[in-house]
Amino acid sequence: MKNGGKGISRRQFLTGSAAIGLGGLLSKKIFAQSKESTPPQKSGTRLILLGTGGGPRPNKVRAQSSWVILVNDVPYVVDCGEGVSRQLVFANVPLRNLRYIFITHHHSDHNLDYGNLIYNAWVSGFKGRIDSYGPPPIEKMTKLYFEMNAYDINIRIPDEGRPPLTPMIFVHELSKDGVVMQNESVKVTAALVNHPPVEPSFAYRFDTPGRSIVFSGDTTPCDNLIKLAQGADVLVHEVIHKPSLARLMARVPNADRLVEHIVASHTTHIDVGKVAKAARVKTLVLTHFVPADDPSLTDEMWIEVAKTHFNGKIIVGKDLMEI
Ligand SMILES: [Zn+2]
Ligand SMILES: [Zn+2]
Repeated sequence: MKNGGKGISRRQFLTGSAAIGLGGLLSKKIFAQSKESTPPQKSGTRLILLGTGGGPRPNKVRAQSSWVILVNDVPYVVDCGEGVSRQLVFANVPLRNLRYIFITHHHSDHNLDYGNLIYNAWVSGFKGRIDSYGPPPIEKMTKLYFEMNAYDINIRIPDEGRPPLTPMIFVHELSKDGVVMQNESVKVTAALVNHPPVEPSFAYRFDTPGRSIVFSGDTTPCDNLIKLAQGADVLVHEVIHKPSLARLMARVPNADRLVEHIVASHTTHIDVGKVAKAARVKTLVLTHFVPADDPSLTDEMWIEVAKTHFNGKIIVGKDLMEI
């Protein structure tokens, strides 16, 4: 869907046309508010890795998938694995500034805290508008999240003087390639990637005045991603270390099925270098590490093969690293 925002009220979804009109007014308001209430803006485009672990099982080493781009201090959050709100706080991104959320696909390590992030922005003083983008059923998920938490939300509105939350949220369901969002600073383009059995799954490209940054989402090596990422400054790409999956199998219940899924729907530490080379990006940032918490895997082991294929810079991502 292109620019087809839908506001969600407690009673019903508003029609697209009504929501677009309302959104225009709200977006002017939010920028005025954020200027009053935030410290001096940092200009330019910043990328912060919030969570670099892959997979749904919480661990001590890496938070679940989430990254944020700040363009002139406006945050664009990509994926909402568990703990995204707290990671944003650690990254000194005020939750009340939340404005845009992009979900690559509906695996829990990418969306578990999607609703919670919106909620946490609200209790942190957010008053403007949030636009969220992602594959179906993100609209239904958003609506059900607010239903699940209606008791608390309805108490806080009168008791703490907070504005009604649901009319401020605009959900955009995506089902195909193309530009999904564009404003005066940023153009966001989505591309379908291959992550069976989750369909659709998306990669996102952010073009800002100073930088182009692509997030692979979860995918096997994929021509559509290579096309999307062509010539980008930064490719933030998922990675698995196939030789280490046997050790993961030994530690985790139901590991046989798990390893089957991992190999069939992700990109190895060998192929990721080939993808970066084919896309002719300047910098490859590895993220979504599987295994996420194997102490025997060093940074060098993650990149040793990729760098034989790719001549550019390779960064082994860490939580809260700024690039
Ligand atoms: Zn994942
Ligand atoms: Zn996934």
